[in-house]
Amino acid sequence: FMEEGVSIKGYYEIERISDSFNKMINRMNKIESSRQEFVSNVSHELKTPITSIKVLAESLLMQEDAPVELYREFLVDISEEIERENKIINDLLSLVKLNKTSGDLNITSVNVNDLLEQILKRLGPIAKKQNIEIIYESFRPVMADVDEVKISLALTNLIENAIKYNVPDGWIRVSLNADHKYFYVKVADSGIGIPEDVQDLIFERFYRVDKARSRETGGTGLGLAITKSVVQMHRGAIKIYSQEGEGTTFNVRIPLNFIS
Ligand code: ADP
Repeated sequence: FMEEGVSIKGYYEIERISDSFNKMINRMNKIESSRQEFVSNVSHELKTPITSIKVLAESLLMQEDAPVELYREFLVDISEEIERENKIINDLLSLVKLNKTSGDLNITSVNVNDLLEQILKRLGPIAKKQNIEIIYESFRPVMADVDEVKISLALTNLIENAIKYNVPDGWIRVSLNADHKYFYVKVADSGIGIPEDVQDLIFERFYRVDKARSRETGGTGLGLAITKSVVQMHRGAIKIYSQEGEGTTFNVRIPLNFIS
């Protein structure tokens, strides 16, 4: 090395630089392939309702002198597929907007008890239809500096899931607590639970344990990805405890004021 003008120290330096260069390339490749996977998932998800609409419209057009009831029936199906497409687009826009404006939070002082009560008032009738009882317990008044719209979206997703993946006559327990640093929201349900080996995956975009059930209940597979993103933007944490056939609990922890 000395003869060629490169010292041993210099050689190790080059080795170190090339090592971190490789690591950087690996990381970029990983980001790129996850981006590609996302784009291909998005295309697939967006195409599914369109394909159904096409099939429904074409088969109706093929029938000569179809009775008006048949038209009605097919139009109901078509309109449901359009509704679904709309939901996917809206969820995707929420997610993209969250990622783009990361750090761009509209922080105000929020009464979290009131916020939860508003959400439960909105979702209560949906739970009632399935005879699911919602129990709300608040252990203390909580004021937090958060982005109200985003936190509301994140918590709504969790409670909506607790309804969607519950059993008839089941229950949901939502509780709110706080200490000097954080507030804690716990959403527990008596539902179908999540198998242990996929509990890490459910926060991934478009991941669903049971595609058919998620579809039936109007799911897009984006809800928990949105929730996690919101929690992370507030420097909080989300944890899941679940047992298949027993129920699921999500624990969310958010700083009362993460700026100071
Ligand atoms: P979806 O729109 O399908 O509900 P989410 O991202 O909100 O998508 O959730 C991803 C998947 O995690 C769901 O499809 C479901 O399989 C599972 N899941 C979420 N919450 C619960 C819950 N409370 N109980 C059982 N399974 C759940």
